[in-house]
Amino acid sequence: MLALQGGVSEHLTALGRLGARTLEVRTAQQLAAVDGLILPGGESTTIGRLLTLFGVFDPLQQRIQEGLPVLGSCAGMILLADEVLDGQPGQPLLGGLDITVRRNAFGSQVASFEDDLTVEGLSEPVHAVFIRAPWVERVGADVEVLAREAGGHPVCVRQKNLFATAFHPELGHDDRLHRLFLDSVRF
Ligand code: GLN
Repeated sequence: MLALQGGVSEHLTALGRLGARTLEVRTAQQLAAVDGLILPGGESTTIGRLLTLFGVFDPLQQRIQEGLPVLGSCAGMILLADEVLDGQPGQPLLGGLDITVRRNAFGSQVASFEDDLTVEGLSEPVHAVFIRAPWVERVGADVEVLAREAGGHPVCVRQKNLFATAFHPELGHDDRLHRLFLDSVRF
């Protein structure tokens, strides 16, 4: 679990409920010890800066390219995207996921909302919480769209080892998306 900024504890709680062994990652050494990583929601510009400051940005980018399973939620989705619209000038992105995201696409904090989403591979809808969330405006040919918001923009996508949600699967007690992610992690 990347633990530099953002909503870390709720993800750790969900992983704990699923019986995963967890480690809070703040250094390159800790990163080297994990078999999968969650990038939390928070502020993508801040997390990007802290990744560089803590010497984790380059090694993480390399591990992503080598196939490390990563789940990014909200700010984490932005960091995994190859391209961001409405980002800060020069905002650092880890990339790897062939998508273009629009940051704060639904509006400001007051435009946060909840909705029940149909997610590919899950029989019952997921109650999704969107907080200053991005949406996806372009998906590359190798990207699977697992869910769309009411307006039709993708909000849950997967490409090989990378899995991203515009919403917060860690809020609430529905662990199905974490379980889907853990299925791709050997631990
Ligand atoms: N708007 C935030 C950003 O740009 C993301 C919000 C969130 O992670 N809840 O990083």
